[in-house]
Amino acid sequence: MMNFHDRDLNLPRLCNEALNQPLTEAECSVMIAAAARKVEELFDILRIDHRNDHNTRDTPQRVAKMYVEEILAGRYTAPPRITKFDNAQAYDQLIVTGPIELRSMCAHHLMPIHGAAYIGILPSADGKIIGLSKYDRIVEYFAARLQIQEELVKQIGQYIMDMTSPRGLAVRISAVHMCKTQRGVRASHRSRMVNTYYWGEMASDTALKGEFLQECTMLDRDGAT
Ligand SMILES: [Zn+2]
Repeated sequence: MMNFHDRDLNLPRLCNEALNQPLTEAECSVMIAAAARKVEELFDILRIDHRNDHNTRDTPQRVAKMYVEEILAGRYTAPPRITKFDNAQAYDQLIVTGPIELRSMCAHHLMPIHGAAYIGILPSADGKIIGLSKYDRIVEYFAARLQIQEELVKQIGQYIMDMTSPRGLAVRISAVHMCKTQRGVRASHRSRMVNTYYWGEMASDTALKGEFLQECTMLDRDGAT
């Protein structure tokens, strides 16, 4: 009988790190079944009668499946495959893409984070470029973990840097944290956290930073959710 503990117990990972090896389908099923039993136990402790309550009868299974296959999928699956193209026209000016829908889960409270990411790429004339939709996939992959926004921004950017080695890069996230709006101080749903991280030439060039932030503002206005 396969047990998902066998391989992973000796590999403790931080909540926003992927396992060394993606899980197989069989390992995912074992994990979901084990997690479902623990959610049942949690309901028992919270005195929710899931065995007799028609509303919560299937909830433990549903929640376990949702965590493994959606909320934390970026820990158990391989990173998106990136097809790289030669930068044939040697394009070396700033490209900005966004807003990219961002859905994640706060590591401190297990509450949703919802917002948008913006990515600014300064390609190298002799480097590689990737398809525009890949940036959305990369954001989705790293967001599907328990995250804090400061680290999410850096993970997304570092992956793009490693894969494409641009001259410069900027990643900006603007997001609502439901741990702040739905509980705690119960802030307005308009209250967002915004942070930007720069790499390479983008980190030292004030004019480029200004251009990126201006494009973000324009894209935010046009595509505001
Ligand atoms: Zn939180």
